[in-house]
Amino acid sequence: MAASEESLRKALAVKLSAVEAHGNAVRALKAAKASKPEIDAAIEALNNLKLEKSSIEKQLQAAVSGGDGDGALSREAFRQAAVNTLERRLFYIPSFKIYRGVAGLYDYGPPGCAVKSNVLAFWRQHFVLEENMLEVDCPCVTPEVVLKASGHVEKFTDLMVKDEKTGTCYRADHLLKDFCNEKLQKDLTISAEKAAELKHVLATLDDLSAEALGAKIKEYGITAPDTKNPLSDPYPFNLMFQTSIGPSGLSPGYMRPETAQGIFVNFKDLYYYNGNKLPFAAAQIGQAFRNEISPRQGLLRVREFTLAEIEHFVDPEDKSHPKYFEVAGLEFLMFPREEQMSGQSAKKICLGDAVSKGIVNNETLGYFIGRVYLFLTRLGIDKDRLRFRQHLANEMAHYAADCWDAEIECSYGWIECVGIADRSAYDLRAHSEKSGVPLVAAEKFSEPREVEKLVIAPVKKELGLAFKGNQKNVVEALEAMNEKEALEMKAALESKGEVEFYVCTLGKNVPIKKNMVSISKEKKKEHQRVFTPSVIEPSFGIGRIIYCLFEHSFYTRPSKAGDEQLNVFRFPPLVAPIKCTVFPLVQNQQYEDVAKVISKSLTAAGISHKIDITGTSIGKRYARTDELGVPFAITVDSTKDVTIRERDSKLQVRVSVEEAASVVKSVTDGHRTWEDVWEKFPHHTSGSADD
Ligand code: AMP
Repeated sequence: MAASEESLRKALAVKLSAVEAHGNAVRALKAAKASKPEIDAAIEALNNLKLEKSSIEKQLQAAVSGGDGDGALSREAFRQAAVNTLERRLFYIPSFKIYRGVAGLYDYGPPGCAVKSNVLAFWRQHFVLEENMLEVDCPCVTPEVVLKASGHVEKFTDLMVKDEKTGTCYRADHLLKDFCNEKLQKDLTISAEKAAELKHVLATLDDLSAEALGAKIKEYGITAPDTKNPLSDPYPFNLMFQTSIGPSGLSPGYMRPETAQGIFVNFKDLYYYNGNKLPFAAAQIGQAFRNEISPRQGLLRVREFTLAEIEHFVDPEDKSHPKYFEVAGLEFLMFPREEQMSGQSAKKICLGDAVSKGIVNNETLGYFIGRVYLFLTRLGIDKDRLRFRQHLANEMAHYAADCWDAEIECSYGWIECVGIADRSAYDLRAHSEKSGVPLVAAEKFSEPREVEKLVIAPVKKELGLAFKGNQKNVVEALEAMNEKEALEMKAALESKGEVEFYVCTLGKNVPIKKNMVSISKEKKKEHQRVFTPSVIEPSFGIGRIIYCLFEHSFYTRPSKAGDEQLNVFRFPPLVAPIKCTVFPLVQNQQYEDVAKVISKSLTAAGISHKIDITGTSIGKRYARTDELGVPFAITVDSTKDVTIRERDSKLQVRVSVEEAASVVKSVTDGHRTWEDVWEKFPHHTSGSADD
């Protein structure tokens, strides 16, 4: 807990008991019919104490809501303003709205589609092109066998609780999270110790088992939010949408919950396509489906969303990365496991230090963390509201070597937007076992290497005589021994002549004699090393990134007359849905013709734009385009020169009609900055065009 918050909670507790004691004293004086001046003095002292108490309450409220005393309120108000603008301008809207919509399903409208397509184009450029990744596009409908092998059928669950009377379902961890947040933010009377406990629960929420979660819900007396009815114990609910492939109903399938499995099952072909060389990465952009228990928070938790995933395959014995040095010097907010467990906050760490100290498991994982940081900040995510949080021990799958989430802070708190995980060899091993197709890579030796190999040779005749129908089970168990077990058996057989051996498929020990198995080490020449590659997986929730980008870009500014607040999205040109608008200053054929000429040049230059020839005032037209985040506006006010206005500074330069399109193109393509343009071209000085 922040020191100021802790000390404020302590100070408030002291003041509260002082107010109570003084209140009692005043009542006692009145009961004892004390003199008026005496009672008045006591009341004045009480009022002073009450004033001091409310001043501490205000400071504490500000500390817990992270701003001024109205922090929580202004966050809500900010979100309302942003979301109203987003929905009114059709960035996104609830799907099937005329039928009252379905929770967790949203449509992107025209500007939303344009932003999404810009984000995906930049993703392809920043990752696929930069690393020569192999992009694939696999079906959403996936046969059950694939998701059984990956573990999703058994384990892709969230813990759910039910209202015991109405049957309404809730996500158990969300109820606990809401309870803790609400207590911390609204109940200023809780002790510093209680506040620290609630914060610890929040920090370790993802680490809690079903039992621990259930126990906390009971301990805090949490009930169903809508009815206050008691809740069931938490139990797992599988998030996959089930379907059936073909008309027979005999072939079960699921809508994929992630795109990654499509890449894993194609590993053999992709490896061959890559010239049987490691490392390489495959990438896929596509829809993923998760039947979320109680979706809320708009685009942040939906039931169908776009994922962009990378599976980078690497030799588990060499997780270095040739381009690691390019990102090692970056410094940004990181939140390692240790800091979370001890109640500290995220801090700025140099990525290279985090890797060299072993906080980040390996160079390749570090490389992708750095690349994700660059991707998000170049899109326009505020670097001070972006942190990389390491998974807690229980939060991470048992097979994973290390996991970090890129979390972005928005009005809903810190949101996981990109998961970056070293999944070791788990997925390829699982699909090799289930399909029988070895998904492995080989390192060819330049010179054959002599290696000692363990050879286990069961003597089938002796085993048959001894174990009859169980012979096959015993043979398989002997052959499956690892080197350590086999060498221990060899030593025991040599000293004692017989050992007890556990055969798991029989569920019992059997006696193995010296003549039943030969165990030896033989020298062999090997030309290659065959192994299952490890995979490092950055997985991007595109909708979450876009929503956070919307919030980080949104602001309001007063209109010229000061009578209303105008909405603006400060999208960088890279993601802006439309790069430029063209306005004739007044309705006039000559100006409209010039606008058409400029529009033609913009089209030829590949710049998305819009002509606005409505008779509305220029100020209103600017306000309309600012609300869509259009970075530049060309106003035609002569047939020779035009003005170009930049959205955020509202500064304008004069440029010839012929040059207008190329100037806008050079800035939107990032070949020069607006500052360069401002230096080079004459300024438009007749006041702000908004006037
Ligand atoms: P996961 O496989 O659970 O790590 O999810 C990968 C990424 O998908 C996360 O980092 C999120 O950005 C995104 N994501 C997961 N679930 C949802 C959801 N219900 N709605 C929107 N995005 C999601």
